[in-house]
Amino acid sequence: MTYNDKLKQYLQLQGFEALQLRAVLFDMDGVLFDSMPFHADAWSQVMTDAGFTFSKEDVYMNEGRTGADTINTASMAQFGKPATQEQIDALCKAKCDIFATYPPTPRMQGALELVQKVKECGLTPMIVTGSGTPTLLNKIQSHFPGLFNEQHIVTSFNVKRGKPYPDPYLLALERGGFTPREAIVVENAPLGVKAGVAAGMFTIAANTGPLNDKVLIEAGANLVFPSVQALCNEWDNLIATFNRG
Ligand code: MG
Repeated sequence: MTYNDKLKQYLQLQGFEALQLRAVLFDMDGVLFDSMPFHADAWSQVMTDAGFTFSKEDVYMNEGRTGADTINTASMAQFGKPATQEQIDALCKAKCDIFATYPPTPRMQGALELVQKVKECGLTPMIVTGSGTPTLLNKIQSHFPGLFNEQHIVTSFNVKRGKPYPDPYLLALERGGFTPREAIVVENAPLGVKAGVAAGMFTIAANTGPLNDKVLIEAGANLVFPSVQALCNEWDNLIATFNRG
């Protein structure tokens, strides 16, 4: 299927005539930063130490949830009850402590170039992340200087219900003053893809982790690229399709 076919499929499903693209909503971990291997290590270690069965693949399958949601979901599935607030606080702190011992997470290859291209074609880049790291804004500004307006960054601090609920993406649309047909989503994780799709947007997945493409397609991704660099390389062709469609 061509980009045009995928676009037509999406438009038909949503009952839209065409996209009128004004914004691109980026997930952060695994899209803008090559941080998921570190998150996978830290979460699987902390959860396993606390008595959960939680592999690195489980971390990728839960990616996009807030820390509290990740712990609660595992607790419900494995112990049949939600985690206590004390347990959530302790595990989130332990995970952050381990994460802080790792080297700084590098920018994802192709991410800077991609965001620059987005800006150059007159679109507004935004970030929608389930992360709640206190240093997140500094990290974004130092790796993507001048590219993201602070108001255009939605984090776990801003919503009650994180991904896979559409709430974070809907809040981003609201903050930017955009409608679903005026924005597209770039995600790497199945739950993130679900959130973008549930918010009604054309959702592109860059499969930067160990999961099979099938998982992202089943989550509803309209297109899947093997990397952020590959998406970046195809950007001009994609935009030409969107503007025609
Ligand atoms: Mg991600």
